[in-house]
Amino acid sequence: MGLSWYNGHSPAQREAVQRYLNQQWASGDPAWPRPSLCAACAQTQGAIHGHLENYDRPETYVPLCITCHLVLHCRFRHRAIWAEYQRRIAEGWQPPPLNQREAFGRIRAGILAGLWPDGLWRPETTNRTYLDTLSMTRVPAG
Ligand SMILES: [Zn+2]
Repeated sequence: MGLSWYNGHSPAQREAVQRYLNQQWASGDPAWPRPSLCAACAQTQGAIHGHLENYDRPETYVPLCITCHLVLHCRFRHRAIWAEYQRRIAEGWQPPPLNQREAFGRIRAGILAGLWPDGLWRPETTNRTYLDTLSMTRVPAG
């Protein structure tokens, strides 16, 4: 699956920055810790990504599990699902861990179709998460 434009950043820039992040994470440099704890749902298993709002600042990546990350990138086209997702995460829901290979198909057939997997409900809730800080204004491509 190729990347699309996001926040005014081209697919080519996004891919180049992702390669750079992968190199930094592989280097073992303590200034670039590999994402391991989702900042939204506290998932530590399965694929954990680094999300960027600004690809000109690669060091500002936010660790997110693959589910929070993929649903986040679908938020403009699935606004009602996104609102429900934000609400669940704020109330302590943690979706089940997914690996890189299976994630997109599982999320498309599940959460994006309104079919919510069991997951965990964490007792500690924050009420407001990183997901609630994101803009709902889509930046046009180019
Ligand atoms: Zn998450």
